[in-house]
Amino acid sequence: MTTVVFFPGDGIGPEICAAARRVLETVQEQAELPLTVVEGLVGGAALDAHDDPLPPESLELARRADAVLLGAVGGPKWDGLPPAKRPEQGLLRLRKELELFANLRPAQIFPQLRAASPLRPELIEGVDILVVRELTGDIYFGEPRGAEVVQGKRRAWNTMVYDEDEIRRIAEVAFRAARDRRRRLCSVDKANVLETTRLWREVVTEVGRDYPDVELQHLYVDNAAMQLVRAPAQFDVILTGNMFGDILSDEASQLTGSIGMLASASLGQGRGMYEPIHGSAPDIAGQDRANPLATILSVAMMLRHSLDQAPLAERIEAAVLRVLDQGLRTADIAAAGEPVVGTQAMGEAVAAALREQATS
Ligand code: NAD
Repeated sequence: MTTVVFFPGDGIGPEICAAARRVLETVQEQAELPLTVVEGLVGGAALDAHDDPLPPESLELARRADAVLLGAVGGPKWDGLPPAKRPEQGLLRLRKELELFANLRPAQIFPQLRAASPLRPELIEGVDILVVRELTGDIYFGEPRGAEVVQGKRRAWNTMVYDEDEIRRIAEVAFRAARDRRRRLCSVDKANVLETTRLWREVVTEVGRDYPDVELQHLYVDNAAMQLVRAPAQFDVILTGNMFGDILSDEASQLTGSIGMLASASLGQGRGMYEPIHGSAPDIAGQDRANPLATILSVAMMLRHSLDQAPLAERIEAAVLRVLDQGLRTADIAAAGEPVVGTQAMGEAVAAALREQATS
């Protein structure tokens, strides 16, 4: 029996996860998938109940599960707490404990939502990018790091460091992903200045020799940032380190103009964790106004990458396109004057589209 753990988290998390669970249960019934869904506490919700943003029982649930689905964590209620007690710590610890080193973030234009992009329609035509970001190394974790005051002057430092094994394993993930897509991989570095990324370029080139069917290109990060807004449709898979990936994946997601539509996966050697890219949106929490589609698309990614159910993932993705075709919009993706539906109704509509597919 496959087990999936849902961590709804805070803010809109419980609402979007309820809608996503409804959709997962619908495909599960249709495909007679032997699957158990359990729920656990993480983030602010876990702090309130157990004074710990990742209580041991939640970590144990995640370790025993085949995949994890996370809503979002955080909110003003916990903003004043010391760093170790912040809701985000629950999420960071979960990534670390599960050794999730590869972050996959698709940024895709939904034709029905073209108007939401900040770029002109002719620039975004055909944009379908997958950013593969290394998640557990680089300057975010490198040692030594610190801050001090020397003779009255403050200074601080961090270390950008990668070893070849770390680069090789993330490169493998990206090449394999490119193979399932349009077979183009753009590796992003700053090899003209930084030794770390010179090694990055060398190792990615070496790994590329095992994937002669994937076209490999290298770009400096400054050029990549520029190309993403100048001609984003040129990209298929973008592979990059933790810090450059942090920045470029946010830039790529904004091309689509719809934060409520984008899913992500964090993968390791074992189970993966799936989550929408947005936060807990405390400004609209509890009002049935959140867009659940990013979380529903995260369920599709989970079926594809962790549960070996790519056809079911495709069914969910098709159902999402179907509801958009039908004109259903939550407030964040509605054009001025368009009628809007709530979180629950949107989840229900995707479930209905799945049932419709099954009978047509
Ligand atoms: P946010 O993504 O929560 O919200 C930004 C804006 O987008 C808000 O106006 C919000 O209403 C809107 N929005 C976000 N998701 C939406 C959805 N599904 N449907 C409709 N509108 C949506 O970012 P923020 O306001 O900077 O952060 C709020 C809280 O979330 C903070 O506590 C932050 O630390 C946390 N956060 C958590 C994660 C995570 O859990 N992975 C990621 C980012 C931020």
